[in-house]
Amino acid sequence: MTRKLYIKTFGCQMNEYDSSRMADVLGESHRLELTDDPESADILLVNTCSIREKAEEKLFSQLGRWNKLKKKNPDLLIGVGGCVASQEGDAIWKRAPYVDMIFGPQTMHRLPNLLDEVKAIKIQIEKVGRKNAPKDRVIDISFPEIEKFDNLPEPKAEGPTAFVSIMEGCSKYCTYCVVPYTRGEEFSRSFDDVITEVAELAQQGVREVNLLGQNVNAYRGEMHDGNIADLALLIRYIAAIDGIERIRFTTSHPAEFSDSLIEAYAEVPELVSFLHLPVQHGSDRVLAAMKRGYTVLEFKSKIRKLRKIRPDITISSDFIVGFPGETDEDFARLMDLIAEIGFDHSYSFIYSKRPGTPAANIPDDLSEAVKKQRLSILQARIHQQAMKISRGMLGNIERVLVEGISKKDSGQLMGRTENNRIVNFDGDKELIGQLVNVRITEALPNSLRAELLHSDSDQQKLSA
Ligand code: SF4
Repeated sequence: MTRKLYIKTFGCQMNEYDSSRMADVLGESHRLELTDDPESADILLVNTCSIREKAEEKLFSQLGRWNKLKKKNPDLLIGVGGCVASQEGDAIWKRAPYVDMIFGPQTMHRLPNLLDEVKAIKIQIEKVGRKNAPKDRVIDISFPEIEKFDNLPEPKAEGPTAFVSIMEGCSKYCTYCVVPYTRGEEFSRSFDDVITEVAELAQQGVREVNLLGQNVNAYRGEMHDGNIADLALLIRYIAAIDGIERIRFTTSHPAEFSDSLIEAYAEVPELVSFLHLPVQHGSDRVLAAMKRGYTVLEFKSKIRKLRKIRPDITISSDFIVGFPGETDEDFARLMDLIAEIGFDHSYSFIYSKRPGTPAANIPDDLSEAVKKQRLSILQARIHQQAMKISRGMLGNIERVLVEGISKKDSGQLMGRTENNRIVNFDGDKELIGQLVNVRITEALPNSLRAELLHSDSDQQKLSA
């Protein structure tokens, strides 16, 4: 019988990507099949994220639920991976001694070996008893970055879009963030490896790649001649790969948003007119306390340059409200920046103390009520702006990549615009994987409706 794997993922896109790689490596090594049902699984993995508040609480309540399953089925194996695993290490066993393995974001490629080790330990425990066994569980939270990229399984396309990890870690050390401690310093994958992976994905039908990294525009990949390529150069080469029609990248840092990257927007039409650029705040005083490494003016100047090249570009961001010491005036500056840039749908959070970070020691006398009020003002504004952008698209002819069947209506197709909006429209299933032109007919809060104009192949026939 096929053994089943269930993975619970918390957090960001990097974690989603890592979870699908975990499924790939274990599928290849142990023929494990992914399941949506933890109760029917033989192995339960949780991929944690420590960026947001209550990460540990979320983890331990998840583990508590799984422990009940383990009591019913003692052969069930439980593993904890990701940033909380890296941060907490063997302390996880104090609260959850029934966890069989702990691995970090940089050691997920070693999962097959870790799993074998756990199984060997179990057999030994059965023979000699837990007390006499030299080990009763395994942990590997080291940072072997090079190895991680070298041991990824062959890329497998799962539809017309694909994530490609090009760098890992972060060396920015913002005062509120744990990523540099949990994922290690920035490390870029080799240029040739990335190009090869994208070319293979393109051959398998991928039309859009999303280049991933905690600080993706800090990419500095070694080329075969020893030169170092930045993200802009990598994008130019990827755009030249047959079949690749759209390029996205996530997540960027404003301080690394170089002129060469801005120029790429002028020269590479495959680079979508959408940018997620986390500014975090709109007050220089708060940005300095966060140690973000740029001022509001510098951020605005980069956006101005970019908009000169792509006036229609949609920009989204991340915001933290209620950073320790944030005054009414700081918050007003943040709101001014939001209005001035006209940010689209964005991620926004109330600051939460991460143990071991410098900001955790800054006195914080702002009440929770004020923080919540600021967050809701900000989110209402962002929602308003996002709706304005969507309504502004009414009647537009948009090129969308058809990703599959609509989740709302199985008789419709679902595509995505360059500016990351889901569009539902009537069309033939054969269009999945193609870029088609649609006319936007309705703007809803989280999606658009449209009518299909014609597919790329029709377009070619028309112009022939
Ligand atoms: S840039 Fe700052 S916020 Fe982003 S991952 Fe690095 S340290 Fe964290």
